[in-house]
Amino acid sequence: MIDELRKEVCRLHAELVRYGLVVWTAGNVSGRVPGEDLFVIKPSGVSYDDLTPESIVVCDLDGNLVEGDLAPSSDTAAHAYVYRHMPHVNGVVHTHSTYASAWAARGEAIPCVLTAMADEFGGEIPVGPFALIGNDDIGKGIVETLTGHRSRAVLMRNHGVFTIGESPKAAVKAAVMCEDVARTVHISCQLGTPLPIEQADIDSLYDRYQNVYGQRSHL
Ligand SMILES: [Zn+2]
Repeated sequence: MIDELRKEVCRLHAELVRYGLVVWTAGNVSGRVPGEDLFVIKPSGVSYDDLTPESIVVCDLDGNLVEGDLAPSSDTAAHAYVYRHMPHVNGVVHTHSTYASAWAARGEAIPCVLTAMADEFGGEIPVGPFALIGNDDIGKGIVETLTGHRSRAVLMRNHGVFTIGESPKAAVKAAVMCEDVARTVHISCQLGTPLPIEQADIDSLYDRYQNVYGQRSHL
């Protein structure tokens, strides 16, 4: 099971590249090992082209390396904190994608002015606190901001994006959609003032997309 998850998480890193969400090695995907207090994550400093399923490392929920030859991602503590405190989360993604990070640099939530945002995020994409790497502050900021919030994406102030999902693939999708709406709403703001969507309409779009749209068995 861990080998399958390593393959999946390795493959999903290529999606970050494909959608232009990462440069150099600054972005990572992790996935919880079902039924275990473990998760798999990108090794630190390895370029996306060189990633193999075998190079993906296994950590415990305190972020300690359990299996693998390489050091885990420098963001491992943040991922571990999320898995410890959000038991429904099975995938976490971190990127510095350009438009979303530009909103984060200004400390401004992305307002819900597109139906696609209402569908995917159920409202605005919120801003989390400024936090330095090296302790649990980033993880704490993610969990505190997203707990009780519909959004699966948070803009960590002056930093970048963290997304969560019921699977690693769902977290990657949220990261892709976050960057897409960040770009569109940014361009809209250059043209004038985007029009708000009524809360009742946001609720109805979110409800339909989350419960009716698509083919649930394939998600
Ligand atoms: Zn970062």
